[in-house]
Amino acid sequence: MPCEVKPRFVVLYGSQKGQAQSIAEGIAEEAEQHGLVAELSCLDQNDKYDLEKESAPVVFVVSTTGDGEPPDNTLQFVKSIKKKTLPADHYKHLCYALLALGDTNYANFCNCGKTIERRLQELGAEQFYATGYADDGVGLEVVLDPWLEGLWKAIKAALSKMASDRTSCLKGEAGESTKEDSSIPDVQLSLLSITDQQNCNSANSSLETVSKFASAASSSASATQTAVSDLVPATPLGSDGLASQFHDAASVSTSKQETQTGDAGVPGVALAASLTRSLPPLSESSLNVPALPPSYLDVSLQEAEIIEQVDGPANRDSLHEVPISRAVQLTRGDSVKTALCLELDISLMSYQPGDSFDVFCPNRASEVEDMLHGLALSDQRNHLVNISLRKDTKKKGALVPPYIPQNISLLYLLTWCLEIRSVPKKAFLRALVEHTGDSVQKRRLQELCSKQGAADYNLFVRDPSLSILELFAAFPSCSPPLSLLIEHVPKLQPRPYSAASSCLRHPGKLHFVFNIVEFPACSVRPAGRQGLCTGWLFDLIRPVLVFPEKDESSSSTDLPKIRVKLRPNCSFRPPSDPSVPFIMVGPGTGVAPFIGFLQQREKEKQEKPKATFGETWLFYGCRHRDRDFLFREELEGFVSSGTLSHLKVCFSRDSGEEDGRPKYVQDNLLINRQHVTDILLKQNGYLFVCGDAKNMAKDVNDTLIEMIKKELQVDQLDAMKTLAGLREEKRYLQDIWG
Ligand code: FAD
Repeated sequence: MPCEVKPRFVVLYGSQKGQAQSIAEGIAEEAEQHGLVAELSCLDQNDKYDLEKESAPVVFVVSTTGDGEPPDNTLQFVKSIKKKTLPADHYKHLCYALLALGDTNYANFCNCGKTIERRLQELGAEQFYATGYADDGVGLEVVLDPWLEGLWKAIKAALSKMASDRTSCLKGEAGESTKEDSSIPDVQLSLLSITDQQNCNSANSSLETVSKFASAASSSASATQTAVSDLVPATPLGSDGLASQFHDAASVSTSKQETQTGDAGVPGVALAASLTRSLPPLSESSLNVPALPPSYLDVSLQEAEIIEQVDGPANRDSLHEVPISRAVQLTRGDSVKTALCLELDISLMSYQPGDSFDVFCPNRASEVEDMLHGLALSDQRNHLVNISLRKDTKKKGALVPPYIPQNISLLYLLTWCLEIRSVPKKAFLRALVEHTGDSVQKRRLQELCSKQGAADYNLFVRDPSLSILELFAAFPSCSPPLSLLIEHVPKLQPRPYSAASSCLRHPGKLHFVFNIVEFPACSVRPAGRQGLCTGWLFDLIRPVLVFPEKDESSSSTDLPKIRVKLRPNCSFRPPSDPSVPFIMVGPGTGVAPFIGFLQQREKEKQEKPKATFGETWLFYGCRHRDRDFLFREELEGFVSSGTLSHLKVCFSRDSGEEDGRPKYVQDNLLINRQHVTDILLKQNGYLFVCGDAKNMAKDVNDTLIEMIKKELQVDQLDAMKTLAGLREEKRYLQDIWG
């Protein structure tokens, strides 16, 4: 019997933190269930794909990083398609779909995806499926889930069209009829409905359906089952047939409370949904859960005689280990947030104001212990971890995570390699279902990763930044193998900080400023917690911390050391021509890079007293004048020396400041509209924004649009275009985080 050739398509991804990659991998994995073959590559693996000759549909999945930049592994690709020498029909043969990931908290939403899309179209490529712009700011799944659902039908339609184009082309060329490629699937087949999935005769389904978990009486549970199985034969999940277990669980449960876990329900009291508890209709709904991600790693632990107890991240040879020479608390004790300024001794590093640098921090020792305990591996902490690819894995493009070095102990793996604080993704929740003993907990995990439970996932997992450890604590019967953790938990990422100093003023030193991130207490986190890196830094410097308000100075000689790596930012720099005016907007710790800008400017003015220097404006804001006005004395000193032409400060919480006074930086921008727009639109000046991406950067952006509208008497669209033009010219620059 001839072997059927399945139609192929190409999946290309560009990913900074692994999100786009895992979506692309998911598409590639699902392809087989739709009778297709996916060829998956990262955009930087250009020896694995050839767009110049590609005749199959191509699906791009790309994220955006920083200030609208492409991910590192996509830079080269974007550069190559941007070449002006490429002819307008360069990609005429190409048929593509694109999923762009971004975050609307950042002004350049999905910029990388939009850039690729624009160039593909300019170069003649044809889109076969509408582009999806998924927003991490509100939850990727809002766009992602329907986009993925519709993708298969679109790929099949594209394949069919391409085949018939080829056929008619051949007919035209040969003047005779050609037999249609029987392997091209019927486009009419809707793969979105369950019955069609059955028609596909696939062993696994892309969306598994879990029958309703009737949480009330067993009679209603069996009634429910009948209704569901009329529609869909219960799909057993995993080898142990989860769905039937749920039926069993439902039939033994007799009351709602009994089906709920965690915060034990009090009879007669109205219950609220929580991480571990759902309410109708979700608790009574059939669920579409994602397909079980195929496992791909074999992990074993080996007792070793001597294990090198390495301290520090895996790439430590490429990092600078530098002492913290000074640590100052910038805010008063009664301030809502605690801001610290650290000084590093960096004799071998050089940097420019506007650069940032990565700080490499370990996971908290107590959390690593909890994780070891949760995995029941406390006794094997010093064992060697052996990781290899499963020979029989179905996962496309499976790799042993390259950031996990060889010959490391389990303790090292959990301390330096995996972000054990990361928020569990739905695919991970789905995989955990298979390793959860308690059927009620299983059901809740299924709900949280299901289509129907999307709102609960956002509310109880995503929004509170629930960590994997917190999840394990809430679902005590969940006991995954170590391999699952390695497959699903992302790499422990360094945290970037902006330089808050200039080498000209502080040779051999680097300052940076941060707020200690505080996660408030909530039901799954009764004690609250601090941010990983900021909490770690705070613990590290506590013994040497200086409080200027108490006129203290540290006498400690035992300076803690941290590992850092420079992240140059070639565009977030003061204008190279000192006569060009510039505006800085940096409330709170967002003022950091501007301290560096101004220190540099002050030195330059001293060195070249006759040179012409353009105006400098700083818009700063904080809660209270007396509690959290960072660098107040230094900023006022810049004004006195003429380095800073205009310092505009506002306080959002000081009483007496409410009466029509500016509360936020954007209010002050509006008040100074004429100057700001003159600098930007008439004097070729620059505007820099630094700090909180969630609210401030967006508000400032909106305010700038309003100002341009008024100033140029144009409509919203034209004002947005003008601002986009400034961004293109790199005269409107952001260094924002959130
Ligand atoms: P994490 O443990 O990583 O936690 C932070 C995460 O938790 C964030 O995703 C946030 O959205 C979320 N979160 C925070 N609070 C809550 C809450 N209450 N509830 C739920 N979720 C919450 N930061 C500075 O302070 N100063 C700088 O100069 C600076 N420069 C930066 C420059 C760049 C280029 C970038 C990308 C970031 C910069 N940051 C800066 C941010 C910094 O890198 C860290 O993200 C920040 O310090 C928090 O790190 P953490 O490990 O303590 O927190």
